[in-house]
Amino acid sequence: MIELLTPAEVRRAQASGRFVAGVLRDVRERAGVGTNLLEIDAWVQRMIADAGAVSCYVDYAPSFGRGPFGHHICTSVNDAVLHGKPFDYALADGDLLTLDFAASLDGVVTDSAVSFTVGERADAEDVRMIETTRRALEAGIAAAVPGARTGDLSHAIGAVLTGAGYSVNTQFGGHGVGSTMHQDPHVANAGRPGRGYRLQPGLLLAIEPWIMADTDELVTDADGWTLRSATGARTAHSEHTVAITEDGPLVLTA
Ligand code: MG
Ligand code: MG
Repeated sequence: MIELLTPAEVRRAQASGRFVAGVLRDVRERAGVGTNLLEIDAWVQRMIADAGAVSCYVDYAPSFGRGPFGHHICTSVNDAVLHGKPFDYALADGDLLTLDFAASLDGVVTDSAVSFTVGERADAEDVRMIETTRRALEAGIAAAVPGARTGDLSHAIGAVLTGAGYSVNTQFGGHGVGSTMHQDPHVANAGRPGRGYRLQPGLLLAIEPWIMADTDELVTDADGWTLRSATGARTAHSEHTVAITEDGPLVLTA
């Protein structure tokens, strides 16, 4: 199903996006060497309750995960890239942490993810990989204009990722958002221009390039949720929710 929001709903989406962005900013500022992933989950649970928002994750039980997720934010560390389930782990200097967070506020979902290195020991290749997903995200956002097709976004994103020497997994990618977290259309992180759904004002898209340093193959962790690189290599992910408007892309989670 593809949902198109009214201008009033897009204004509510802006408030939802500000909340989601604020949570990620706050966690990023507070998380450091020694922070436990379960502590982060507890902070986010509190922020959701304080805002009167609704978690998209706690009861989430899709076919690709094992039972309800049971947590409020995804915390993917190092070789974990998607759906990282928080567990009893204290962050170490040089860890690469990805936070992925979606919540519903006033009936509208927004979804955003950010990768960063913890502490002082940032690895140069980690930084390059994170920057590459950010550039790919910017390219995808720039292509998100009325009349463009989802394939144009996929092509723009994939060109940045492959241009930097990374291979692209198209199993998981961007998606529509609205009253629920995962909707059509799918926005793969590589593809051919001129194909796919034609973007219309009122569509909300979560655009989310992610890569792994030396592979495009995933393995599922023993927790049934966390997806890791098959080689154990490090990974990065950047995501924003964008509204398609007559005036161009409006980034809701900046
Ligand atoms: Mg997300
Ligand atoms: Mg998403």
